[in-house]
Amino acid sequence: MKCRVRFAPSPTGHLHIGGARTALYCYLFAKAQKGEFILRIEDTDQARSKREFEESQIADLRWVGIEYDEGPGKGNKGPYRQSERLDIYDKYAKELIAKGNAYYCFCSEEELEKKKAAAEAQNLAPIYDGTCRDLPTKAALERISKGEKAAVRFKAYPKSYSFHDVVRGDVSFPEGMVGDFIILRSDGLPVYNYCCVIDDALMEITHVLRAEEHLPNTLRQLMLYEALNVSAPIFGHLSLIVGDDRQKLSKRRGDTSVDYYREAGYIPSAMVNYLVQLGWSHPKEHDIYNFDELVSVFTIDRFSKSPSVLDLHKLKWINGQHLRLLTNEQIVSEVHRHIPSDHPYHQESLAWKLSAIELLKNQIDVFPEITNCFPWIFSDEVQFTPELLEILAFESTPALLRLTKSELEKFSANTFLTEEELNNIISKAKDNLKIKGKFLFQGIRALLTGKAEGPDLKRLITLTHLNVIESRIKKIQDHYTSSGV
Ligand code: GLU
Repeated sequence: MKCRVRFAPSPTGHLHIGGARTALYCYLFAKAQKGEFILRIEDTDQARSKREFEESQIADLRWVGIEYDEGPGKGNKGPYRQSERLDIYDKYAKELIAKGNAYYCFCSEEELEKKKAAAEAQNLAPIYDGTCRDLPTKAALERISKGEKAAVRFKAYPKSYSFHDVVRGDVSFPEGMVGDFIILRSDGLPVYNYCCVIDDALMEITHVLRAEEHLPNTLRQLMLYEALNVSAPIFGHLSLIVGDDRQKLSKRRGDTSVDYYREAGYIPSAMVNYLVQLGWSHPKEHDIYNFDELVSVFTIDRFSKSPSVLDLHKLKWINGQHLRLLTNEQIVSEVHRHIPSDHPYHQESLAWKLSAIELLKNQIDVFPEITNCFPWIFSDEVQFTPELLEILAFESTPALLRLTKSELEKFSANTFLTEEELNNIISKAKDNLKIKGKFLFQGIRALLTGKAEGPDLKRLITLTHLNVIESRIKKIQDHYTSSGV
């Protein structure tokens, strides 16, 4: 049988990283099995569901590389929005009533609340007391035709249930955990457990991978499958993603939605790489992998039972690894939007940008960090740190400064030095001033960059406007003058 796996988000907010991880597992498993990935929109909560959230969730799924085979606008087992399937839920509810598996219930909200409170006061589980269980359907339909509102309640089976969960192993629910439960509310809207089963059955879903919080729902769902005479799919309840405090990620955190990372310049392949190992382990235990590789190795027997901690440092590190797999051209086009539009970077030529990226890509893990590196190139500020002062205090540095300054004066101020021209200055310092080793190399770096350390000097200098270098040298000269050197 062809494997059919669905992801069933509620469009009540942006795609959460937990949702993205679930979607990813569903997608990878479906693709690994050469099956279908189905997107079902669970939008029966009319007050909270919004089309714009559905759209943004689909856009975020696409961003990480997940495209559905069936879902809104695509496929022949639809409609794929629950709000467009109300007649289907109604039809099956009537069938369940006709078969004696469900009944109309006229108990009002207030009555039910009262009974629930009374049960809780006696420390009993709030199980429906069966008031309407034995009402004949004919009598119920008459009351409805006279305008009374009724919900439809499922007759829970008085027995225990067990199933094998691909993440948690064997799970059993003892008899009596749930009483008769509502499947259609008196306003005609279905409840989650019911429409989920109807849809999974009609959409011929073979595997359900979903968040751990749905594990208790599986009991009601198993009962419904039994009543519908349909075999249940294979279930896997995925462990939670928790924060550093080991608590469920707070909804208040801004960094738990996929669009946050998209905006922050993360690379989709890195998000996939990070999210997939947050509760699943790669058989070869290495850290960096791409989508195609994942499809080729993904199986559902490698999920972890314990919660996974969202480790933003690791995510960033993985992003850095993926960033360095991109070509310089790709990085140039990605960093663009993260650099303020009035930054002088934008004035430089493409060749300059490619060369700058070649130099700086090892210094960054996410695109926006590129701006942290720009002072090395664009700033004429000299930070007189203890390390820099130590180099300026070498006996040879003032002479090196004079030589460098006079050499640089031979060039026009708005040009760049070539590597060869820099080498010539270094050779002159060696030959004429007899400076060598750290006195020469640390000295020349300090004078040209205004810093004790930084990326490869020869490349850096070819990217730095000469007037910036001259301005740094001038500041160092002023420092010498003011300290009497
Ligand atoms: N709409 C449910 C959710 O977003 C899906 C539950 C399920 O996968 O069965 O949590």
